[in-house]
Amino acid sequence: MPDNPFTNAQAQFDQAARILLASITSKTKRAKLASKLDILRQPDRVIEVNFPVKMDDRAYKLFQGFRVQYDNSLGPYKGGIRYHQNVTLDEVKALAFWMTIKCAVAGVPFGGGKGGVVVDPKKLSKGELERLTQGYTSRIWDVIGARRDVPAPDVNTNSMIMEWLVEEYAKKLKTQSSKLKTSEIKAVVTGKPVEKGGSQGRTEATGLGGYYVLQAVLANSKLKTPASPAGRQNAKSKTNSSSINSLPEADQLLAENFKNNQKSARPLTVAIQGYGNVGYFIAKYLSEAGFKIVAVSDSQGGVLVPEGLNPELTLSCKRERGTLAAGCYCVGSVCDLNKGKTITQDELLKLDVDILIPAALENVINVANARKIKARMILEMANGPITPEADRVLAKRGILVIPDVLANCGGVMVSYFEWLQNIKGERWNKEKVFSQLEKNIRQAFSRVWKTQQKYQISLRQAAFVSALEKIVAGKND
Ligand code: NAD
Repeated sequence: MPDNPFTNAQAQFDQAARILLASITSKTKRAKLASKLDILRQPDRVIEVNFPVKMDDRAYKLFQGFRVQYDNSLGPYKGGIRYHQNVTLDEVKALAFWMTIKCAVAGVPFGGGKGGVVVDPKKLSKGELERLTQGYTSRIWDVIGARRDVPAPDVNTNSMIMEWLVEEYAKKLKTQSSKLKTSEIKAVVTGKPVEKGGSQGRTEATGLGGYYVLQAVLANSKLKTPASPAGRQNAKSKTNSSSINSLPEADQLLAENFKNNQKSARPLTVAIQGYGNVGYFIAKYLSEAGFKIVAVSDSQGGVLVPEGLNPELTLSCKRERGTLAAGCYCVGSVCDLNKGKTITQDELLKLDVDILIPAALENVINVANARKIKARMILEMANGPITPEADRVLAKRGILVIPDVLANCGGVMVSYFEWLQNIKGERWNKEKVFSQLEKNIRQAFSRVWKTQQKYQISLRQAAFVSALEKIVAGKND
């Protein structure tokens, strides 16, 4: 049976809740905390909608969508909208739960929400996509709002779709003779085009944030384990099932090379699954910092380019040919068939690289392949790419996992900046956005790191524990 993302999210939650409860000595306080935590096991509200869309052949087709409002203890519900043929309610619930944790980790005054429509948008024309967005918005407009629930882009949705959403929302408000200010209408979603009230730097934010997180982890790790196979064997034998809660030590070589990256010592190698918004930008920033991107993939397959690929050129090639797998082996300033080979998505995950970055969908690293992962570190840029069982296997094998709720929280940080700019009528330039992002990422990382040190748990557990502490207290500081 395929992994259920919501069951997985609940398993992560239960583990963090147990750690938190075990740290409370007073029986009364523990019982009070337990009852508060219990509320967080389920979303506040689940909305299922069905709506007709007029297709280009003039026939109407019925589509199904969801909006899940998980928790708003720290502020309005916040979370993207996904268009994908495999969207399920449980997936949206899991994503909304992870947003709840992520907003607390990021230190932004939002709760967690998520939306999804069951559709393969690649099969729709632009007009059909616009009407689909209008149809979905017309079913959820009365439960969203700048102070209630603020959607954003996610897989297969973008700034153009966000613009259509705002337009439909404004139209609906008009029918109710609403007196809502323009600034509040704009702030109903984030991830808008810059000329329509979007923030500078939102497109790059998740990838760039991931780069800042990785920098912070590499700089702070007390990296002792040697990179040799013997050293890795050692690390394996030191960890057992009872020590899965401790942070695995990454390789010394990894740290040294990171420090020397600018001096062009052996560059750290990276494989990235998914080459959309997140996958591309993390590739770009890592490549600029001297990391070597040796493999990338999209939904149709991947490419292995041992010399290290040029991210920009690879993206242009993907756009031109429709998929990376059509032979996008772009090194330096050329794409040349002799520079690489095609690989499957599964092969990409098992490459012997320093850093593996899943940046596509959830559950891609699971019990079936966790034992075969050769990377030394995994930066989770996608939401929920590792199942809890796989997480345990990786921990036992000494592979450091930087969890999604920290790794990709740069996106929601800049979404918050956009919301703030809309509400206050401000326009920030890219420099301000990026420097604020870097500062906030450092703070988020340091909170998670301190929790990890205090409880001696994994980074994921630390992120969850520190987030849950804030959510139950109703305070995001
Ligand atoms: P996107 O739609 O821009 O890109 C998704 C990419 O994944 C595409 O290249 C697609 O071809 C690829 N893909 C799909 N199935 C695949 C498979 N089986 N194997 C390999 N590649 C596959 O989406 P995105 O915005 O880049 O989001 C990617 C992930 O990051 C998602 O999990 C999303 O929830 C998460 N995320 C996104 C943001 C953001 O700001 N966009 C923020 C936080 C988290």
